[in-house]
Amino acid sequence: MFIDYAKITIKAGNGGDGIISFRKEKYISRGGPDGGNGGHGGSVIAIGDENVNTLLAYKYHRKFYAEDGKPGSNARKRGLSGDDIYLHLPLGTEIYQITETGERIKIADITTHNEEIILAHGGRGGKGNSNFATSTNQAPRIATPGRTTKEIVLELVLKLMADVGLVGFPNAGKSTLLSVLSSAKPKIADYEFTTLEPMLGVVPVTEYQSFVMADIPGIIEGAHQGKGLGHQFLQHIQRTSVLLFLIDINTPDPLEAFRTLHSELYLYDPFLDKKPSLIVLSKLDTIPEEERNARSAELQSLFQKEYGLDVLPISAVGNLGIEELKWTLYNMLDKK
Ligand code: GDP
Ligand code: MG
Repeated sequence: MFIDYAKITIKAGNGGDGIISFRKEKYISRGGPDGGNGGHGGSVIAIGDENVNTLLAYKYHRKFYAEDGKPGSNARKRGLSGDDIYLHLPLGTEIYQITETGERIKIADITTHNEEIILAHGGRGGKGNSNFATSTNQAPRIATPGRTTKEIVLELVLKLMADVGLVGFPNAGKSTLLSVLSSAKPKIADYEFTTLEPMLGVVPVTEYQSFVMADIPGIIEGAHQGKGLGHQFLQHIQRTSVLLFLIDINTPDPLEAFRTLHSELYLYDPFLDKKPSLIVLSKLDTIPEEERNARSAELQSLFQKEYGLDVLPISAVGNLGIEELKWTLYNMLDKK
């Protein structure tokens, strides 16, 4: 299951209290102050983890409290500090804090494996009375309490870090293409919106080289305004390096289809317009063999003339043009 959003509450541990205590020794009626300091509370720390791919762990378990520090004890003993807790987050997670007034403030962007960010600092331990002895007050009855901490509400938003984003209308063949290019097993069916969750697949190019492709649920017109299922997933393509527009070769007007897809993206985020793009025509096997070359050439010249973009006809089912597609994408990524 792929989860791209979670709302959680975190809290660092309170500091332990400092205590008031006096030395008790045989034959000494009034020993000096020996109250120890409280231990510090544990912190809540986010850590980037490349082995985690979803926010699933944060969907059902929502409260993450670090341990409180323990109070000090006599003989100047400091209380134990509370353990920190680590939230292992997938790379590409953005962390927002929701303030008491409801403001949403971005506080971190986890992009690197093992990168750590302290989300809530543990409360400092209080001071025991042994700290307060002076020449004029040798038996202080003062100790300070540990610093208490507050709950913090956070939103976690995972933006997939795919290299290539698949963009196309429902039924264009996105899931099928991803399944033949990678070992991912997306749901494939002949009705719209079979893909309710974006799927990631690793596409092997050579033994050592690969890239990540994301199948993003179908976009329909108006998706940028929240219509259909496409919109909530548009955020996932913001981070991809290359956009692959997949258009069924049987579409009556492929240029118009591209224009619609493209403007949806542009309206959502004008920056998406700048990403290198490739037009891929799917289901080449469905047109008669003798018409394939002519149809491909015709569409190539149309897209070249209008947008300066190359067109690649493929068939995921018939295994046509798949190897070429893999290398074309790989070269566009410039990973070498
Ligand atoms: P998505 O909605 O874009 O993910 O599309 P799917 O991958 O679920 O495919 C939609 C339908 O098109 C399914 O019935 C697939 O079997 C069919 N399909 C996908 N690729 C091809 C192809 O290359 N050739 C043919 N003939 N059918 C295909
Ligand atoms: Mg699909």
